[in-house]
Amino acid sequence: MTSLGPVRVRIAPSPTGDPHVGTAYMSLFNLAFVRKAGGQFILRIEDTDRARFRADSEQQVYDTLRWLGLRWDEGPDVGGPLGPYRQSERLDTYAPYAERLIREGHAYYCWCSPERLTEMREEQQKHKRPTGYDRLCYGRTIQERAALPGFQETPVVRMLIPDDVPLSFDDLIRGEVHAPRPDDQVILKADGFPTYHLAVVVDDHLMKVTHVVRGEEWISSTPKHLLLYRWIGAEPPKFAHMPLLRNVDKSKISKRKNPAARLTWFKEQGYLPEALVNFLALLAYPPAKGSDGGDLEVFGFDDFSRDFEWHKVNPVGPIFDLKKLEWLNGVYIRSLEEGELAHRLLPYLRDAGVLGDNPSLGELARLRRVAALVQTRVTTLAQATPLIAPFYVSDQGLHIAHEARATLDADSPKALDAAIDVLDAIDATGTGLLGSESDWHSSRIEADLRAALVDGMGLKAKAAFGPLRTAISGAKVSPPLFESMEILGKHATIFRLRRLRESLH
Ligand code: GLU
Repeated sequence: MTSLGPVRVRIAPSPTGDPHVGTAYMSLFNLAFVRKAGGQFILRIEDTDRARFRADSEQQVYDTLRWLGLRWDEGPDVGGPLGPYRQSERLDTYAPYAERLIREGHAYYCWCSPERLTEMREEQQKHKRPTGYDRLCYGRTIQERAALPGFQETPVVRMLIPDDVPLSFDDLIRGEVHAPRPDDQVILKADGFPTYHLAVVVDDHLMKVTHVVRGEEWISSTPKHLLLYRWIGAEPPKFAHMPLLRNVDKSKISKRKNPAARLTWFKEQGYLPEALVNFLALLAYPPAKGSDGGDLEVFGFDDFSRDFEWHKVNPVGPIFDLKKLEWLNGVYIRSLEEGELAHRLLPYLRDAGVLGDNPSLGELARLRRVAALVQTRVTTLAQATPLIAPFYVSDQGLHIAHEARATLDADSPKALDAAIDVLDAIDATGTGLLGSESDWHSSRIEADLRAALVDGMGLKAKAAFGPLRTAISGAKVSPPLFESMEILGKHATIFRLRRLRESLH
């Protein structure tokens, strides 16, 4: 058996739909800690809630975490010494624990029907009494209980919360934490499935988890978990309850209300995984200090992990500020080498139909050059698609957008005519892969056009070059004009200028 590390942590997502951004956030902090301390990161799938289960969700968890570069050491798909790592494959594990707790007087059967429990709760609320199970079934046999109202044949199993339930515990982020007294929690449901509380404790125990890093919404469950550890005779792990991510209005981020709660959304929008990782780290962790003493907000996983310490995690619910992510993403996009940027852009261009599944070498070579032009103009990869598309449509097929055409005025035909003449006079022979002999390059194109249209004809730059931009890109916004012309080549450039010019008669 592979040796287990000093630290073992886990995430335990429930496959109930598109993975939540919180799963990545929690994975990141678990990983930063375990990579520094040494040990294993476990991915366990908590799929015992059959009503909310979604079959494709587990794969999406794998895909999105891998996309982010957050790798686990043990999990359903990669195996490991203490599996299986999917709770639905461990169902036989839990019932014996529940039975043992019943035998030892820590848990009891409850035959109350859901209707009775609802009535009981309503009654308690009406009289402003504390809500919680009233222990009607405790100490009764099935026969005794069956004689009372609100009985159902198949029981659940409840914890018998004792007076000395531990209500405070030490948290790695928050120090001493106090939690309210829990109710007699159900640990085994009528369908024989464990609830989260039993399953999580049994699994964390059997998988030798040393540190439980999870969302702060579980603080109130921790007393129950501590009791379960006590009853099964196991040392509890250490706990770190991460602050929940919040919307700008401070509400909890939910997939229903905020598209950015879905991890797949970030990929669709063209955020770079390294920017998202950096952003998620900054949500709850202070920036590093640069050599000049200033804040270093841009950092990679390794830098984050190297200095990771729990006490630095800010326990106050961080606001999920997408403007900051957008800024970071722009920084990361600008730092990519152009071939790499082109490579990252490919899937977006394919999805948008700008490029086919198997682009030619020529198309790829052009993409590197175009990528360099758009690099400083976008903050997400998806934003680059409309800027790049004009470089891949046929000259006849270029669509001139209405708002681009609307910028043309009475000077535009003159500007186009003059530009055609000027460009026609530039020698473009030798253009090609080794086009060094050619005069067709952006600085020459710019110099000649300026000399003729601005200096010669007295046009303002906007009146001179706006129509040229419209002609070659079909849009109001495009990558730099002269560089775009260089990449398109003389033939295509002049063709596009003529095409617009002819449409203006
Ligand atoms: N299945 C729980 C969740 O998705 C796991 C909580 C925990 O980490 O203990 O939130």
